[in-house]
Amino acid sequence: MMKLHSIVLAALLGTALAPSTMAFDIGKALKVGTQALQAATLTDADVKSLANQACVQSDAESKIAPAKNKYSKRLDTIAKELGKEINGQPVNYKVYLEPEVNAWAMANGCIRVYSGLMDLMTDDEIIGVLGHEMGHVALGHSRKAMQTAYTVSAAKSAIGEYGGSTAAALSGSELGKFTETLINAQFSQSQELDADNFSYDLLTQKKLKREALISAFQKLAQLSGGEHSMLASHPASADRAKNIETRIASNK
Ligand SMILES: [Zn+2]
Repeated sequence: MMKLHSIVLAALLGTALAPSTMAFDIGKALKVGTQALQAATLTDADVKSLANQACVQSDAESKIAPAKNKYSKRLDTIAKELGKEINGQPVNYKVYLEPEVNAWAMANGCIRVYSGLMDLMTDDEIIGVLGHEMGHVALGHSRKAMQTAYTVSAAKSAIGEYGGSTAAALSGSELGKFTETLINAQFSQSQELDADNFSYDLLTQKKLKREALISAFQKLAQLSGGEHSMLASHPASADRAKNIETRIASNK
């Protein structure tokens, strides 16, 4: 968070000192800066509200599989294995009829699986991937990604219009950009490994096939040139598979 704050301040300072903006109101800039910084600390209610808005926004822009569609029925079966909540947060599953190999979860329990991923993987592998996405939510990564996306979005708007957004209130075009940023959020190497380990532990606890995580990573490794967060894998898929192999070997 400190790094992000510095970037916001530097951006504001740069704008204030630029010769082309001699008439820039420094008092107003500082006030806007304060609002941008405040945006980094969203309350639980803010996080839930923003995730609800982003999920609705994404659904509105996507082709959702009808309830009786074969993909929806298949996901229902998979969801029964995984359970209906993440740390007490009820989950909501839907399939997007899109060829992309992708899946994501938001902090409000909104989980979306793309038919391209379902075509590529077995049920057990999908369970492993969704366990990983649920891990990002359970471990607070999704919340952090949301705070980052919101701060950047609020700061951009504040600098652009000298107006500033108040917490958890994004306008139409802001919401569109925010949702896109959130869905394509990049997680750090340690966050990815932690989410993998969360999935492994979940599969262990539910007595599901942990080996499926390895074959899921192997399938992801064979895809190249993907721009989605799940495919832009850091660490490399081979290293992630190795981590799960080691855990299975030591049975921990
Ligand atoms: Zn991930």
